Amino acid sequence: MLNNLTNLYKDCFNVDESIVEFVNSAQNGLTASHLKFQEMAEYNQAKILSCMRECKIGSRHFAPSTGYGYGDDSRDKLDELFARVFGSEDALVRTQWASATHALHDCLFSVLKSGDCLLSITGKPYDTLDKTIGLNDYSDKGSLKFWDIAYKQIELKDNGSIDIDSVLAILDDRKIRLIFIQRSRGYSLRPSLTVSQIKQAIENIKFKRPDLKVLVDNCYGEFTGEMEPSQVGADLTVGSLIKNPGGGLAPTGAYVVGTKESIGHVAIMLTTPGLGREVGSYAATYSPFYQGLFLAPHVVSEVLKGNVLTAKVFKSLGYRVFPDCSEAVRSDIIQTIQFRCEDELVAFCQAVQSASPVDSHVTPYPWDMPGYSHKVIMAAGTFVQGASIELSADAPIKEPYLAFMQGGLTFAHIKTALMIIIACLKERGHISETLF
Ligand SMILES: *Cc1c(COP(=O)(O)O)cnc(C)c1O
Repeated sequence: MLNNLTNLYKDCFNVDESIVEFVNSAQNGLTASHLKFQEMAEYNQAKILSCMRECKIGSRHFAPSTGYGYGDDSRDKLDELFARVFGSEDALVRTQWASATHALHDCLFSVLKSGDCLLSITGKPYDTLDKTIGLNDYSDKGSLKFWDIAYKQIELKDNGSIDIDSVLAILDDRKIRLIFIQRSRGYSLRPSLTVSQIKQAIENIKFKRPDLKVLVDNCYGEFTGEMEPSQVGADLTVGSLIKNPGGGLAPTGAYVVGTKESIGHVAIMLTTPGLGREVGSYAATYSPFYQGLFLAPHVVSEVLKGNVLTAKVFKSLGYRVFPDCSEAVRSDIIQTIQFRCEDELVAFCQAVQSASPVDSHVTPYPWDMPGYSHKVIMAAGTFVQGASIELSADAPIKEPYLAFMQGGLTFAHIKTALMIIIACLKERGHISETLF
């Protein structure tokens, strides 16, 4: 341990040596899992490098475009690159999608028409889709419900796996046209699904109903494993560029990868039936999208290293954490910590904000965020607004007081942030000195 570092923690962050030692000793037990994440990074790095070689990416593919964007080679090449990396026939990578929710919306409407039914087989989808589906009596213009498209869901089993027997039983309903699978835990306590679990479900479903399409919400899952849902039978796989595949550099946008047929339909929703994928310009350079994808496996592995350290540290402090630090397989980049009361939860998120490189002097408070059904507090002192591949924490203000901490561009930052967070919680009386 560098002497100067201990002094720096104390002088700049008011972190005592006892906290530094506590976090360091937690890290000592994690060498094996850290090595595993490193290996996964190597695998995905090699995969992306080989795809970039095959696509013959050149600096001309970073050139911006203006106006309609006809013949935008940078945009079209990025589509080709994502298709290769995700092992899919086709892809759309677009800055015109404001978020992954927007892309998921377009995917839903590209498949479903009035009279059809959407079936989620992983319980309730992520909160931002509530109004798109028309849950909780929302029947807003533009929702599936407004357009007379029904929705059903099958809950996950108690152990977090897909209840395939119930799914197969409900498939006798011929109105069901699209299956929705969410890979990540989102704002819930369930475990994330592995791609092999998703594969098994898709095989079973398509054996019974080969006519059905499968849409996977892949947010937070990219490059945590060797395979992506698009390689195991998903017709459409969706994610955000300000999460994993943007590597912390992509400034906006979302991607959809999938079969040629399904992507063709999504392209119509993206713009219009006549224009499809041929239009859409981007007046800034495309290089952050390419470079971000290239960096993504490394950044994801840094986050996963940080996730297990966070789990170990908070578990040692007596909190419940999901997944546990001993969990061998991680299929998303979220670490959940359960706090004891609203005060503590808010203090934690405020501490995360104070440990951020941007807006560290700003204090977040719970607010009614558009798209969410409860008050939410969000710590996001990020370079790219709201980017959750950067260190951030979200918490819906409701029992059981869960904070979802995710991202972190470097392991070193996550580790320093943990020390700052512990010092803050200690100062506010939530953690006692006797714990370390
Ligand atoms: C973040 C997220 C979304 C929504 O993505 P946005 O880009 O914020 O719209 C959907 N599903 C899951 C599982 C997510 O993590």
